[in-house]
Amino acid sequence: MLKRYSLVFLVILAIMILLPQTTLAAKKTAPKWQKATEPLSFPILMYHSIENKPGNRLCVPPEQLEQQLKYLHDNGYYTLTPAEAYKALTENKRPRGHKKMVLVSFDDGYEDNYTNAWPLLKKYQIRATIALITSKVGTPGMLTLEQIKHLQKSKWITFVSHTQNHQELNRLNEAEQQSELQASKDWFKQTLQHKTDFLVYPVGRYNEISTTLAQKVGYKLALTTQPGLATKAQGLYELHRQRVVPDMSLEAFSSLLTK
Ligand SMILES: [Zn+2]
Repeated sequence: MLKRYSLVFLVILAIMILLPQTTLAAKKTAPKWQKATEPLSFPILMYHSIENKPGNRLCVPPEQLEQQLKYLHDNGYYTLTPAEAYKALTENKRPRGHKKMVLVSFDDGYEDNYTNAWPLLKKYQIRATIALITSKVGTPGMLTLEQIKHLQKSKWITFVSHTQNHQELNRLNEAEQQSELQASKDWFKQTLQHKTDFLVYPVGRYNEISTTLAQKVGYKLALTTQPGLATKAQGLYELHRQRVVPDMSLEAFSSLLTK
C-alpha cells in the first residue's frame, strides 16, 4: 500500500516538475497569435555591414547597433522571423501580449554580421534575417558556409535570398531575372537544405517582371528599399523597409519604428 502511494506521489512530483518546463519551451518557440482590429503595420529595419568605417553609409558601427538592439529589447519589441512576418501580414495577427513588432534584416551577408552583429543579437535576444548573395558566400569579407551553418543552427537567424549575383533586376531581361531568382533558391535548397520564401531585391531595384517572377519561382514575400513601415496594402512583393544609417541618434532610430 505504502509502495503504491509513494509511486503516485513520485508521478505527481514528476508532472509538477516537467509541466512548467514544457509550457515554457512551447511559449518560447511558438507564440499564441491574436487577430488585430486595425490593418497591421510594422518596421522592417535594413542594415548592411556592422563595422566602424567612417564615411561608409552601409557600415553601422557595432556600438551603435548595440544601442539600437538594447532599445528594441528594453522597449519590448517582438522580433519576427520571416515566417512570422508573413503570418502577421497575411492573417493580420500579432503575437499575443506584444503590441510592438519588428523585423531586423541585414543585406548582402557580410562576415561582420557573424563577428560583430551576432554576439549582440544573442546578448539582447533579437531574431534577425540575413539576405545572402549566394555567389558571394565564402569570398573575402563575406560570411563563410561554416559561419552560415553555425548561425542557422542557432534558430535566431534566418537566411533569405538576395539573388545569385546581386544584379539590379530592372536592368535584366526576363530570362536573366528568372535565373537570378531560381539559382539562388536552388542554392538554398541544395546547400542549406532550407526552403527560402523571402527575397530581398538587390539595391532595391525591380520591375513588374521581378514581382511576377518572384511569385512564380516560389518566394512568398519580397523586400524593397522604399522607406516606411511594412503593410499588406503595399503588396507582399513590394514591402517597405527602414534604412538604418551610421551616426543616427537614438531619437531618429526610434522614429523609424513608428512611421
Ligand atoms: Zn545588397
